[in-house]
Amino acid sequence: MSDRENDERRPVLLTRPLAPEVEAFLRSHTDLQVPLEDRPLARSELLARVGGVAGVLAMLTDRIDEEVLEAAGPSLEVVADHAVGYDNVDLAACARRGIVVTNTPDVLTDATADLAWGLILAAARRIAEGDRLVRARGPWEWSPSFMLGREVTGKTLGIVGLGRIGQAVARRAAGFSMRILAHSRRPQPETEEALGVAPRELDALLAESDIVTVHVPLAGETRRMFGEREFLAMKPTAIFVNTSRGPVVDEAALAAALSSGEIAAAGLDVYEREPEVHPALLGLENVVLAPHLGSATVETRLAMGMLAARNLVAVLHGEPPPTPVGSAGE
Ligand code: NAP
Repeated sequence: MSDRENDERRPVLLTRPLAPEVEAFLRSHTDLQVPLEDRPLARSELLARVGGVAGVLAMLTDRIDEEVLEAAGPSLEVVADHAVGYDNVDLAACARRGIVVTNTPDVLTDATADLAWGLILAAARRIAEGDRLVRARGPWEWSPSFMLGREVTGKTLGIVGLGRIGQAVARRAAGFSMRILAHSRRPQPETEEALGVAPRELDALLAESDIVTVHVPLAGETRRMFGEREFLAMKPTAIFVNTSRGPVVDEAALAAALSSGEIAAAGLDVYEREPEVHPALLGLENVVLAPHLGSATVETRLAMGMLAARNLVAVLHGEPPPTPVGSAGE
């Protein structure tokens, strides 16, 4: 038996219970430790449980930094993140220790693009606001001027971050006969042409778009990418949607822009200090607030769990993982 085969049932920490299929797969290849309770591990629990493991399958709520790697010790070979955005993992610290980091791209692209579209339509057509009104059991009736929203069909959609999810959002826009603009750092002429997307600098995109939807990863240069200046640059009729990561948006500035009429409406899935939401947003009717549901479908969560598990097991078997975190910007 090779050393690698001897390694097969090494200790692995899954930080939160996942689907039975995922846990069964991990159990068949590793000595799996899973907390009994379905809640985020407290920092002290994470530090205590990680000691001596060969792999960690981590949630986006687990901060995997120098302290955790130190607590794990030299046995740790792989951090398999159960997310496409790996801003919870200190990549440089992992690289210094030769620890492989993997994520779960592609399998959550459609679900997240669908949710972005759900927020676009809900914000434009005031669906959540209307739901609240009906449930309040007060009087209401149809009238020619009752609860008018904004048309989506035929409008200009601005996509910030034309990656996997941004492109999936663009494909869905074809059904709404939209003009599509996009902003990323690197030009992608073939993708843009195939999707019928016109590239723009950020300021031009903000000025021209009726709907701005954000799909960038959270990194140094995208932190607070949207603040007072950016909301002021948008049309007063604009709708702003964020399904990327909360700290990309200055929530206080967004709340101010929504209440002063600098922009018309917004849809958010993610928050600066999740799960807290800025109190000024909670009081506004023109913002739709979803509780981080981007990838939250039965099908997608199973696919994410299986991909994260396959990544982890591949590394422990000395094989290339299907989706390592690779080049910058991935
Ligand atoms: P991706 O394929 O890596 O796409 C990211 C895009 O952002 C790329 O086109 C990238 O292009 C662009 N970008 C990066 N930095 C930028 C900057 N400073 N300015 C402008 N554009 C920039 O990632 P993805 O799979 O589409 O996922 C995107 C993000 O969505 C993830 O990182 C994650 O945080 C979030 N997400 C959220 C949920 C949810 O539940 N709400 C679910 C899935 C994903 P350039 O590098 O050329 O700029």
